[in-house]
Amino acid sequence: MTTDLLRLVIFDCDGTLVDSQHAIAHCMDHAFAEHGLDCPGLEKTRTIIGLSLPEAIAQLARPAMLETTLIEAVTNSYKSAFFTLRQSPDFFEPLFPGVLEVINTLDQRGWLSGVATGKARRGLDAVLDRNNLSKRFVTLQTCDNHPSKPHPSMLEAAMMETGVDPRCCAMIGDTTFDIEMGRAAGMLSIGVAWGYHDREKLQSAGAHAVIDHFDQLPAILDDLWKPAAETA
Ligand SMILES: [Mg+2]
Repeated sequence: MTTDLLRLVIFDCDGTLVDSQHAIAHCMDHAFAEHGLDCPGLEKTRTIIGLSLPEAIAQLARPAMLETTLIEAVTNSYKSAFFTLRQSPDFFEPLFPGVLEVINTLDQRGWLSGVATGKARRGLDAVLDRNNLSKRFVTLQTCDNHPSKPHPSMLEAAMMETGVDPRCCAMIGDTTFDIEMGRAAGMLSIGVAWGYHDREKLQSAGAHAVIDHFDQLPAILDDLWKPAAETA
């Protein structure tokens, strides 16, 4: 499909572009233990990957209600643990299969690409630098300047920066937070089945489609996307 309209596809990072669950769970356990709290473990931590850290930590502690100052302290411990882990020579946070190929294909078809993540900008930059992806995205939205997903603030900023209409945008992510955020911003919302929330949850959250591999994404976008002129 060819078009003169600007189109933008926005990717989540953790669980969508990179498999970061083990690193995140390791640092979350470390941060909780440092403050005498029960470690949440991998399975529980997988459910909150994608939220901003304070929101994620508050959810992991439930049913306990943590004081704001304790949430801030655990957040700082997590950041410190992750910074240390990232310097380690055996740190491994692999890209999921097909990431580079799908970005190239979408680029050839005229789609701009961006990222919207609950990570801090420092963490996102580290992921992109390590995988030679720093120059592949026209807009990068992080938790530093926005409320946590599923608030649509990050997507509204991405559209503002690029000038792309929501009807010409698609959000791609592995969690219900991504799907709800995309829906709230009025754009196509496509789930990926290789991440941290299961397919049924993504569909219940309102995903327009759920893909099993990145190579399905260009065709799904062609199927689902309708030029703004047709729907105006
Ligand atoms: Mg994610």
